[in-house]
Amino acid sequence: MNRPLVAILSGAGISTDSGIPDYRGPNGLWRKDPEAEKLVTYEYYMGDPEIRRRAWQMRRESGALRAEPNAAHRSVAELERSGVPVRVITQNVDGLHQLAGMPARKVLELHGTARTVVCTGCHAKTPMEDALARVDAGEGDPACLTCGGILKPATVMFGERLDPVVLGQAAAIAKACQVFIAVGSSLQVQPAAGLAGVAADHGVRLVVVNAQPTPYDDRAEEVVREPIGVALPALLRRLGAESG
Ligand code: ZN
Repeated sequence: MNRPLVAILSGAGISTDSGIPDYRGPNGLWRKDPEAEKLVTYEYYMGDPEIRRRAWQMRRESGALRAEPNAAHRSVAELERSGVPVRVITQNVDGLHQLAGMPARKVLELHGTARTVVCTGCHAKTPMEDALARVDAGEGDPACLTCGGILKPATVMFGERLDPVVLGQAAAIAKACQVFIAVGSSLQVQPAAGLAGVAADHGVRLVVVNAQPTPYDDRAEEVVREPIGVALPALLRRLGAESG
């Protein structure tokens, strides 16, 4: 018997135990502070060097690169290592699933990654760490060392399109999996909401793990409200035992 494919859709809630606040969700920090939102809005970022200088300072001070995976991230990687086919679709840009041990090729980052910097001119990708080191050394708005273009994080800013290839892969996984677990996502913004809908429409066993109610709770086979750091490891151990 083939072991069931488990899809994990993760949102900001899985990373709060790692000290990363919800910046982007419907009630996220960025939405509540229009000045902060400008720093992550493509049009303002590209058009104003002062916005870019402030954005680099924000990245430097956030310490996001120093965040470590927590028990929930580790439990996903453990399930994968146990031989169960697992795919992660994440709304997060923190790279913590991979740091916990998930193979990068099994993680789809819907909003990109904050661990990489991309040049808006030549599209060269370089580590965020290197760019932040240049900011530490006194460059206010480090430019691409290859072409002089404006550098930005490899994240999808407000006003930018999501990668259609990544979106297509995520939709294919939502259709093909046998279990779809939405963790720490309000399921109120696209594409996360749509993916949960696709899974439910295809008769996939839907599980929601989130502190607050989501619009998909009534379509879920199981809704878990307990803290993610405890609830997800328990849920995945049970799932691993079932399919073992
Ligand atoms: Zn360049």
